[in-house]
Amino acid sequence: MLIPLWGALGVTLAAVLNPLADRLPKHASLSLQSVCPYCGSSPAGGQPLATVALLVGRLRCRTCGSRLPARRWLFELCLGLLFALLAWRYGWSIQLVVASLHAAALALIAVTDLEERIVPDAVLLPAVLFSILTTLALSPSQLPNRLLAGAVGFGIFLALRVLKMGWGDVKLACYVGLIAGYPRVFACLTITALAGGLAAAALLLTRRAHRRSYIPYAPYLVLGALLAVLVRI
Ligand SMILES: [Zn+2]
Repeated sequence: MLIPLWGALGVTLAAVLNPLADRLPKHASLSLQSVCPYCGSSPAGGQPLATVALLVGRLRCRTCGSRLPARRWLFELCLGLLFALLAWRYGWSIQLVVASLHAAALALIAVTDLEERIVPDAVLLPAVLFSILTTLALSPSQLPNRLLAGAVGFGIFLALRVLKMGWGDVKLACYVGLIAGYPRVFACLTITALAGGLAAAALLLTRRAHRRSYIPYAPYLVLGALLAVLVRI
């Protein structure tokens, strides 16, 4: 019973985070109210959940009739699936709550980086602090290990800045290390490099990108971190 319930919680949380994903990169005043990106009326589509709007075929704004972005329901479904997987992995426990909050922060960062090429500090810095505080509270003996892994992630990506890696990615790599711990941070960063490299090669081969194109790296870091969270927090 926990798995579907927790999955539904993931969908609902994503519906709350969707407006933040719209506003954070634009530094707009933060609000949890879902508005239509075309006419600004709210609630967009007349449905609080984009997944429900999709199911009943009302994925259009009630005021202006524009089709609402697919990201809204995609994000809800992905976070719901992720929460269900975490509930299956951890069962009802404090680790489930911690892992789910990390997953939500990571998913939000992946969306803003894919759409606007921004890793928002307003999400990342509280998440880093949350990671340190929960390690301190739940397994204080692990803290030096996690801090070392955070430093490793930060250091490796700082060195990669010569490859035009952004500061957002450097800070995100630190967060990934804090979640993964040492030495698993290396496995996470290897997954990141492989996934990012494959995607970049595919884009170059299909000529959808050229060598100087910016390729968002954060989603691959998020992928590595989510695997770490799913295997063990
Ligand atoms: Zn509208």
